Amino acid sequence: MAQQYSNLSSKSTSERSVNTDRRRVITGIGTLAATGWLPFSAMGQNKVSESEILIIGGGMAGAATAFHLAQHGRSVTILERGEIASEASGQNMGGLGGPGWGNMPDLQSYLTMGSLEIFKQLQIDMGYDMEFRQSGSLTGIHTEEQYDFIKNRVLSQKSNGYDVELLNPQEARAIEPEISLGLLGYMHLPGGRGQADPVKSTQAFAHAAQNSGATINTGQNVTAIRVHGNSGYSVRTDKAEFICQTLVLATGAWCGPVGKLLGLNIPIIPIRGQMWATKSLPPRIFQTISSAESSFAWSRDNGADETTPPNLTHKGNRRLVRHLYGRQRKNGEIIFGGDREDVGFSTTPDPMGIEVNRQHASEVVTVVANHPAVRTWAGSMPFSLDGSPIIGKIPDRDNLFIVSGLASSGFGRGPMAGKLAADYIHTGHMPHVLAESDPARCVTEAE
Ligand SMILES: Cc1cc2nc3c(=O)[nH]c(=O)nc-3n(C[C@H](O)[C@H](O)[C@H](O)COP(=O)(O)OP(=O)(O)OC[C@H]3O[C@@H](n4cnc5c(N)ncnc54)[C@H](O)[C@@H]3O)c2cc1C
Repeated sequence: MAQQYSNLSSKSTSERSVNTDRRRVITGIGTLAATGWLPFSAMGQNKVSESEILIIGGGMAGAATAFHLAQHGRSVTILERGEIASEASGQNMGGLGGPGWGNMPDLQSYLTMGSLEIFKQLQIDMGYDMEFRQSGSLTGIHTEEQYDFIKNRVLSQKSNGYDVELLNPQEARAIEPEISLGLLGYMHLPGGRGQADPVKSTQAFAHAAQNSGATINTGQNVTAIRVHGNSGYSVRTDKAEFICQTLVLATGAWCGPVGKLLGLNIPIIPIRGQMWATKSLPPRIFQTISSAESSFAWSRDNGADETTPPNLTHKGNRRLVRHLYGRQRKNGEIIFGGDREDVGFSTTPDPMGIEVNRQHASEVVTVVANHPAVRTWAGSMPFSLDGSPIIGKIPDRDNLFIVSGLASSGFGRGPMAGKLAADYIHTGHMPHVLAESDPARCVTEAE
């Protein structure tokens, strides 16, 4: 049985020593003379840690990439400025999965269903308690227009081999006792959707990476990166210096500013997602719950322009649409969220948005109306401007990779994103499904 990962930065000396054979600590700069360049340490610091591969960012994308690279036997270190799961990967709703692999799996199928398999691997085969359940999901349909839209979507998805069905309210109530009978129907994904605890899951991936030989280095805020031809990278944090041959950016909503350290424009912007929770209640909601309102609206106009990613709930201060997702946690809290707002890196929840979301949730699961929000929180999601993930090698740069742009579903899609990135780095060959997420389409050199 695997141990539950706790605070990696406070691990005992014996636990840390697991990786000493894979990690070289270089004191002084003599070793680096051979590379023909001087590290930052030549300017004052005297300790440089070396890892074959450095990953910046200890969210789901970074932890999953580290886990799979370590499984390939590669020497890998995560640098994280806070703790593992201290940003979006620890703050999300915990929804995962999708409608299935379909007859012709594309990148989305790989990311959603491949990740589901990896969640199962860690929870069931490796024994991590991530509160993972393959719960299924229900999406409420509020209007006739939405009903026609969802009916067509279900028909088309079924004919493409996806596992999805349309239920009337009575059928939905039979499998989800608190669901509203007042809506027109529900889209049901019986098998492909699941849920898990965000913090426990992300920490489990980091712990599994560490158990496979990776080094986790938290409390390391990366402030400068130097490139030297194809010799590798020198990465300076507020505390130390690290050198590597291969660098992986898994910095979520902060890919823009971290890209600037490398002279790159990475078109990922932070989008605030916010959530609220009731007090703990007896088990009442068993699946993940959402509403068709937003997918219907975005199918007509996704709101994207040159500086705005698709599928946001707001433009400026104006609400365009309501969006909803939620579930009941193992601790009994019913949690819901949905807003996606471009407010920079602010993670202060907006109470008005929370109230709109609570009203929306109570239209789908009536019991919610009786229970006020007792806590709220928010996090920054990494939205790419074109709405697609950015996973792969940075063009015209040696040994530089990115795993990001996973937007509002990077918890559920992060495990497979990390595996595909790790396979690419390990083999030197791009997995064919990553053609869709190739950074070459949008990452450019800064002027
Ligand atoms: C409220 C909310 C609800 C959501 N619900 C869901 C959901 O139900 N299902 C789902 O799949 N997804 C959901 N998401 C989206 C999901 O959380 C994100 O897509 C995912 O967590 C992104 O993972 P990441 O590893 O790319 O980024 P993050 O988790 O943000 O990790 C990036 C890490 O990089 C670190 N970092 C940044 N800059 C530096 C630096 N200079 N030096 C060192 N470290 C640095 C940060 O500290 C951070 O820990 C939700 C998000 C929010 C906010």
